[in-house]
Formats: sequence, structure tokens, C-alpha cells
Amino acid sequence: MKTKKIIPIAIILVISFSCSSPEQPKSQDNNFDFDISDETIEETIRSLKEKHTDKESFRIEKGVKQVASLWQDKDGSVEDFQRYCIDNFISDPVELSVAYNKIERNFEILFGMYNTMSIKLMEPLHLDMGEIHYIDNIMGSYSPSSHLTDDLFANKMAFYIALNFPSYSLKEKSEKSVEWTRQDWAYARMGDMFISRVPADIMQNASVAATNADTYIADYNIFMGKLVNQDMVQLFPDEMKLITHWGLRDELKSNYNLENGLEKQKMIYQVMLNIVRQTIPQEVINSGAHQWNPITNKLFKDGAEISFTAEPYTRYEHLLQNFKAQSAMDKYNPIYPTYIERAYDQSMELTRQEIEDLFIEFITSPQIAEVAKLIKQRLGRDLEPFDIWYDGFKSRANINEEELNKITRRKYPNSQAYEKDIPRILIDLGWSREKANYIANKISVDPARGAGHAWGSEMKGDNAHLRTRVPETGMDYKGYNIATHELGHNVEQTITLYDIDYYMLRGVPNTAFTEAVAFLFQANDLKLLGQANPSNIEEAEALAALDNCWSAYEIMGVSLLDMYVWQWMYENPDCNPKELQQAVERIAIEVWNNYYYPIFGVKDSPILAIYSHMITSPLYLANYPVGHLIEFQIEQYVKDKQFADEITRMLLQGQIIPQEWMKGAVGSEISGNPTLEAVNRALKIVK
Ligand SMILES: [Zn+2]
Repeated sequence: MKTKKIIPIAIILVISFSCSSPEQPKSQDNNFDFDISDETIEETIRSLKEKHTDKESFRIEKGVKQVASLWQDKDGSVEDFQRYCIDNFISDPVELSVAYNKIERNFEILFGMYNTMSIKLMEPLHLDMGEIHYIDNIMGSYSPSSHLTDDLFANKMAFYIALNFPSYSLKEKSEKSVEWTRQDWAYARMGDMFISRVPADIMQNASVAATNADTYIADYNIFMGKLVNQDMVQLFPDEMKLITHWGLRDELKSNYNLENGLEKQKMIYQVMLNIVRQTIPQEVINSGAHQWNPITNKLFKDGAEISFTAEPYTRYEHLLQNFKAQSAMDKYNPIYPTYIERAYDQSMELTRQEIEDLFIEFITSPQIAEVAKLIKQRLGRDLEPFDIWYDGFKSRANINEEELNKITRRKYPNSQAYEKDIPRILIDLGWSREKANYIANKISVDPARGAGHAWGSEMKGDNAHLRTRVPETGMDYKGYNIATHELGHNVEQTITLYDIDYYMLRGVPNTAFTEAVAFLFQANDLKLLGQANPSNIEEAEALAALDNCWSAYEIMGVSLLDMYVWQWMYENPDCNPKELQQAVERIAIEVWNNYYYPIFGVKDSPILAIYSHMITSPLYLANYPVGHLIEFQIEQYVKDKQFADEITRMLLQGQIIPQEWMKGAVGSEISGNPTLEAVNRALKIVK
């Protein structure tokens, strides 16, 4: 399900700085406090304005301020800064376009070659090339491009770009999109390349905080065989060890409709509450030395109750450290001066407000209550807070997998056979023979070690790679199903690189868009095998719509909590871990009481705070539900249209901002309505 892509320069920046040698003299830190004064900036702007026409005022102001925010004393003196701006500002549009074309060409060479180097260096790890050697691991994890950003500052290319191609905030991009030409978009994407330059030690701190949080969660296992109920009875198998929260949640999900399933679910729920509240005994984290009743929160050694120490707010200490490390970067990011803006406006290219409105509209829609009613009826009991993970809308697999295995094994004895079949697949999906061959020629299929992935090219003349595992006996159906998904990624990667008008606009706005294309391919896999069975499709689609809606409802609440907690930390930057725990619990209960209590009938549950993402990947959660809405919206739109034409048309928009892409693709912004309309239809089918 994965795609590989070269890391954009903003991220290269992260890597290159965090890789700086630790033995650098401490005095270097002073470099970063070097400020170009407001007076110097104004004076430089004035000189440039005298030299050029009024028409250029906007670009002059933006460009000079941008260069000033990036300039450090190792780049030169104040006079050097002024001279650099005055000598290198371009006002003539023809000359500017020459500059753009030259930079674009150079970036395609750099990104393309670096990408090829990474692909080749990692081949021994990714492809079936025999035993993995020590050297393969070392060189496979080596990043050839990690010093590129430093080099582009050192040779001043970064300043040249910042000066001449203004960077626009998301708000400006949205407002200007009405009048922008394709060239304006390409220039704006060029302007996104160098918008911050965070000092190495601050980057390093953030990376340490993130790694510490990761390690904390990775080692946070609960020994389920040691949990006991009131009668000291063990409900889970001896060897079961579950990681918070994914393992706990998945076990909870798998206990629907099982004998004593409800009791086990209730026990897992209590474990989660103890983690959120930090009332959990330190002794039971990652250890099976004691028995623990999570309902009464009593600890036992050899059957006798003993006293214990609760976990000392470590969970929230990590969250706080992430906050401190990320917010330390604020002053180096003039365009997106808080982590909240960097996570939403910069990274997702949706504002915090847009996301909040989208989620609240969805989770307060009347369909949610209808779906809840259906779940209640199917469970034959009132809802419990943990039913946010209700797992009963899964389609009863009606396909005979053994039959399908026989077909795919015969058809695809090896990876070359799949590669040869790609033109036929594309023709069946509606591409012309000529176009199908054109795309297929740019995709190589390699025999993978693991489940497979799609790794796109970054320069014309180079192929995208579809990695798939084909056993000796030939490709089985599961492998074929995944390969079809990956092929969708490769087709997207190929069209948006080769057929796009500007290299800077290659690709799609974010991963949700390429996933949508991949899932559309995957959904056609049986049809492409000549095995589609339309009689099951209606029910399967209805169940999928209900499942989709319920999981969106769940994760949108968690994402809102994440958002509100970060706001609270920005308002209370000096809080301690205990105060943060209290705030998180209070906000989780508020979100619950606003949007879940009316549906569940149970008040004051802090369960939304259990997600590990909140600790390890701050403010990333919103990507999941937004991605699902986008996917569903595109799928619904394409459903009754000519597949190949529609997909090609959408993809050729390239990497503009998500809301504009969606308007161009399906005629409206990102919306939960298609999902909710599908729920309306599904409720008539599923009883
Ligand atoms: Zn995928």
C-alpha cells in the first residue's frame, strides 16, 4: 500500500540539519541568532523599488523579507545581503521565466538522480537478491541527498529562489488561485522550496523528542495473560502481549460476537482508561511479573494484593517534550509560525478551521445516529464507549480464493508476466492502445522481498518501479490484488511526471490523492481478471459505506481532541505533565460529551485520548479521515464515468492545493456528503 517518493526539500532540510556532526563547535549556535534588522530590510526594499517599476513592489517586498529570514552570518555581512538582493532580483518576466526553466531543469536532474541512487542502493534490501549483508544495511539506509539543502544555501541558489519566487501562505494561495495561471502555480511551488532554515541543534532536539516518544510507545506493552477479573480469573491467553493502543484496540475489535467477548472488551477498555488517566501501575507496563485487575485497579503478587506506584505522567511528559521541541522552531518559520499551522496549513494544505468545520459537520450529521441505531440492533445491547471501534460491517467474503489463486498463478508465473500484462490492464480500464503502451513502458515490475510497494521516478527518462512478491508457484490472488493497487500508484506517478506541464507541479497534492487512484485500480481487480460477480457488489458496497462512516466518526473525534490539546499547550506553554494530563482528560471528555454522549448515551468517557499517535506523531491524525473522505469522493464521482479519461484529467492538475484540486476534479471542495449519501443508500440495504 506504500508509495515511495523523494523527500521534498523542506524535509531534506530536516534531515540534512539533523545529520550535522555533533562535534560542531558550540559557538556555531551564535550564527543562528544573526538578524538582518528591519531597517536594513526596509532600506534594501527601497533601493530595489527605485531600480524597478511599481509592478514589482509586491515581489520585492516578499523576496527581500524571505531572504532576510533565511540569511545567517556565515552567508555574508549585512552589506553582502543587501548587494545580493540588489544584484539578483529579476523584474523582467522573460528573464524570470528563463531562470525558472533553468532551475526546474537542475532540480529534475538532482531529484531524479538522487532518487535513482536511492532506488539502486536499496535494491539488495527490497529485491530478492540473496542474503542481506552488513554493507547492504549500511548503504541502504544512507541518504545521498542529505546535504543538498546545505549545499544550495552555500552556493546561494536557495537565496536566489527565495528572492525571485515569492512563497505564499495557504491563505494567499487559496485567494489567488482564481487568477493564477499554471505558470503562477509552478512559480509558487518553486517559492515553497526554501521557507525556513531551522538551526541544527533545534532540529536535533525535535528529533530526539520524537524518537523518545516513539521508543516509549514501542515498549508500552500490556501482558494480557496477567489481567484478572473480580474472581481472579484470567480471560486472555498466557502469551498475549499487546501494544498500546493499536494492539489493545485490535483485540477489542476481534471480540465482537465471541463468547465472553463483552467481558474481555470491558476489561480492555478499563486498561485504556488507566493509561489515559495515568492510574496504571508502573509495575504492569511491559512486564508480566504481577497480576492486575484493571477494573478495580488492584495489583497482586502470587495472589496477594500489594501496593503499587502509578505511572508518573510519563505519557504526557513525552507529549510536552514534543510540544517544546516543535514550538522552539516557531521563530524560524515566518510563514507558518506555530506547529499547528505547520501541521495543517503547510503540511496538509488545509487550515485548522477548515478541518474542524469539516469534522464537526460530519460527526453531527443525522446519519451517525441512524448508523448507531443499526449497530445497537445488531449487537442486541446498548452501546458502550468502546463501540467507537465496532467491527461488524465487514462483508462476508463471497469469493472463492482458491479458485482465484489458480487463475492468478497460471496467468502470472513470475513478475515479468505481470509486467507484460500491464498494457492489456490499462486498455481494459479505458486507455487507448497507444497511451496504454506509453504508460506501461515507463513502469518496471521487480520481484520484491516483502509485500511490495510502488516507487515512482523523479525524472523523465526513468521508470517507476512496481515491487511485488511472486512465489515459485506463481502469483497468488492476494499478491495480485496488492499489485493492482500498486499499479494504480505507478500510473499516477507516471502521468503526473511525464505529462505534466511544469516539473514543479508533478505529483498530487498529498498521499490521499494517490491512494484514491490506487484503491480505484484495486477495486477493479476481479473485473480485470474476468471474475467480477455483480450480485454481491451492492451489499458489499453498502457494508463498506457504513464501516467507512463509523470509522470516520471515531477518528474525527480523536483528531479534534489532538487539535484542541495543541491549542491548549500553546495557551499554557509552561504547564507540567500532570497539568497536561488533566487538560487532556478534560478536553477528551468535552469532545465526548458534545459529539458522542448524545449517540452513546454514556457520559464523561475520556477514551478518545488513548490514541498513541497523539504521543508519537503530533497532529498527524487528521490526515486519516481527510484522506478517506477524499478517496470516497473521487471514487463516487468516477463510478459511472469513463475511468481512464477522468483519472487522467484529474491527475494532470498536478500538485496544486487540495481544495483547488478537488474543485477541478469533482466540482466541489473536500466534503463528507458523498460518504453520508452512501450511508443513506446503505441503510436501506443493510438490516
Ligand atoms: Zn497505497
